[in-house]
Amino acid sequence: MPVAGSLSRIFPFLSGEEKEAFRQVTPIYPFSTTDYYLDLALRSKAVRKMLFPSLEEIDPVLQSFGEDDPLREEEHKKTSYLTHRYPDRVLVVVTNYCPVLCRFCMRKRNWLKPRFFITEEEIENVLRYVSANETVRDVLISGGDPFYLELERLEYLISSLEKIPHVEIVRIGTRSPVTDPEWVLKSDICEVLKETSKVWVNVHYNHPDEITELSTSAVRELQKCGIPINNQTVLLKGINDSADILENLFRKLQSIRVRPYYLFRCDPVKGVLHFSTPISKGIEIIRTLFRRISPLAIPYYAVDVPGGLGKVPLMPERYRKEGDKFVLETFNGRKVIMEDEFPPKGE
Ligand code: SF4
Repeated sequence: MPVAGSLSRIFPFLSGEEKEAFRQVTPIYPFSTTDYYLDLALRSKAVRKMLFPSLEEIDPVLQSFGEDDPLREEEHKKTSYLTHRYPDRVLVVVTNYCPVLCRFCMRKRNWLKPRFFITEEEIENVLRYVSANETVRDVLISGGDPFYLELERLEYLISSLEKIPHVEIVRIGTRSPVTDPEWVLKSDICEVLKETSKVWVNVHYNHPDEITELSTSAVRELQKCGIPINNQTVLLKGINDSADILENLFRKLQSIRVRPYYLFRCDPVKGVLHFSTPISKGIEIIRTLFRRISPLAIPYYAVDVPGGLGKVPLMPERYRKEGDKFVLETFNGRKVIMEDEFPPKGE
């Protein structure tokens, strides 16, 4: 939040190239941070890369391969704030405000718009749409960060959605336990959440350095509300694109009782493409992790298909079919042949 103050504080620590990036990049893609996340960035190279601008963000050749909205969220909008793509799920982007602007953000296009928070009138439009569409069982409230919506408004939105009989779950996507844990601990967000009955929270840790004592305390506060917490991670070149780093991250997440849910390939978003890895990189990492850790600590690796065609999970193939038999690959790479069923066909 204290952008100007933060900048003057950190400028002495910046390299020449970083200073140049602040000068050239922030008029296009702004910078914002909390004091907490800035302190973390000054101690962790990985966090620094997620927080500080880099000249690659505006590299005209590299970024020409990206789009502002490759997932076509705007095109699939049914109200000004609601996107409906999958039959059973809708996305409600309630704000474009985040206290920390992450350089890899897939909604960077929203940074360029004036600040918005969903209005009472628009909440009614969302509720009318969801009520009228009985296939919708899952509402994802996202942003920006929904934890910074005026709490009475967030409470009204959640409680109204929970009253719609066909809505089975309401998911809230937030990065505040990672970037601004004091907000979770000091605001009344937990007072709102503990009254809910259908809410799940998706947090967003990308690197083990982000799981600090304070961040863990914020997660614990959410857990005390009785809310299941899942994590999504984006695979980011130069930050977490190694099996060792992700193993450490997923183990640490498990130790704080947060389920690693998704590992996303970085979307081809303009201003973000320098973080993109080959699709095959994620598959290889997951293959390695299957040899090292329990599946409960392994997220789905998925690619969101450009054009708004939806997510495709891409897990490494660990079997093939040969006639009536299966050839299975065990955790340590052994190939084992198994019958499809017992007793085997034809006996
Ligand atoms: S918290 Fe999420 S929405 Fe906000 S800038 Fe970071 S990635 Fe984007």
